[in-house]
Amino acid sequence: MQYYSLQHQAPKVSFKEAVLKGQAPDKGLYFPEALPKLPKDFIKNLPSLSKEEIGFTVMQPYVGEDIPEKALRTIVEETVSFDFPLVKINDHISSLELFHGPTYAFKDVGARFMSRCLGYFHQSETKKTTILVATSGDTGGAVANGFLGVEGVEVIILYPSGKVSPIQELQLTTCGQNITALEIEGSFDDCQAIVKQAFMDQDLKQAYNLTSANSINVGRWLPQQLYYFYGLQAWQGEKPPVISVPSGNFGNICAGILAHISGLPVEHFIAACNINDTVPVFMQTGNYQPKASIPTISNAMDVGSPSNFSRILEIFGGEAEKLKTRFSSVSVTDEQTKATIKAVYDKTKYLLDPHGAVAYRALEDYQSERPTDKGFILETAHPVKFPDVIESLLNIKIPLPENATQLNPADKCSIELAASFESVKSWLLSR
Ligand SMILES: *Cc1c(COP(=O)(O)O)cnc(C)c1O
Repeated sequence: MQYYSLQHQAPKVSFKEAVLKGQAPDKGLYFPEALPKLPKDFIKNLPSLSKEEIGFTVMQPYVGEDIPEKALRTIVEETVSFDFPLVKINDHISSLELFHGPTYAFKDVGARFMSRCLGYFHQSETKKTTILVATSGDTGGAVANGFLGVEGVEVIILYPSGKVSPIQELQLTTCGQNITALEIEGSFDDCQAIVKQAFMDQDLKQAYNLTSANSINVGRWLPQQLYYFYGLQAWQGEKPPVISVPSGNFGNICAGILAHISGLPVEHFIAACNINDTVPVFMQTGNYQPKASIPTISNAMDVGSPSNFSRILEIFGGEAEKLKTRFSSVSVTDEQTKATIKAVYDKTKYLLDPHGAVAYRALEDYQSERPTDKGFILETAHPVKFPDVIESLLNIKIPLPENATQLNPADKCSIELAASFESVKSWLLSR
């Protein structure tokens, strides 16, 4: 499979090069040259296939010849080595729980797949690859855990000091080995800006083989398709489901749409946003206006300029009218999110996290006009990652998930740096 840049000013590359580069030299996102069609039998037989077999069949065309079958099967096995249960909340809405991985959020799958691909590619490279990544919370933990101990790859995570939850901070600062956490005295936007500047800096390019590990990277973005196949595997409805996805950078929902184009039956996709409503406004007015992000209680979706939306438009040939037949996007406030967590818990005892609650609310509103359309939400994080909001709202203590490893605050190890590119650059060059 070849990948082209959405800016069309850079040469096409293989899967391997797309993963190693992250972003095309013209700053465009890489996009697959052809969207694979899965055999009809595959979709029909979905309920009887193993998650490993599904993973291999879906990913193989995207990887092409860059990773041989045996190695790719091992990568997929290690990527999906936990459960993805579809849990019924009520008659109309189920929850596809994506938080049973090691860091309790859905980003584990993409991070594990990408890390293992890089580990495989390293066998034929001599220079070490350095992942430089900014996080507002969940990405850092998933990337730290996914890349821990991977040969030939080191990870440097920038996170905003005091602005991630305690569990999130421990997940990204206690790994050690090939993982380093930089605690930046600033905001997530500062961290992101520093990383962007680092990728363009000539001195750093000389010293390091830098790549990114956010959902721009096809190695992290594409395996997210698997969730939708696992959801459909367990789906009992007479009609295909409406799927509501808590969306920030729109990587996850874009992967779902790819799965649908490949043959997966889905009635409709809802991109559920918090008040960072760049895409909902675009869907209403046709005017795409990126803006600064606004902090909310569903903080992993505090994105004012969603990078993967251009990929969604590309799937529909840039035609917003076509997009509207399959996709809608709505904005939910923090007040509505809290009210939803409370109402669902009181009625069913199901505990939503703030991100899942945004998706739930969006799906419920959609169904109020289409009462026969059943569906599911993607529950993207375990509620224990956001204890402040939930425990004060419901007056309960959230238990840690089963098999949780207790992280010890005494093991925290981070390097504190000022929120400037210069301070990070001089640290990188002096190691
Ligand atoms: C990253 C994240 C999202 C947003 O996913 P995108 O692919 O960026 O749209 C939603 N929920 C949680 C819990 C996340 O960590």
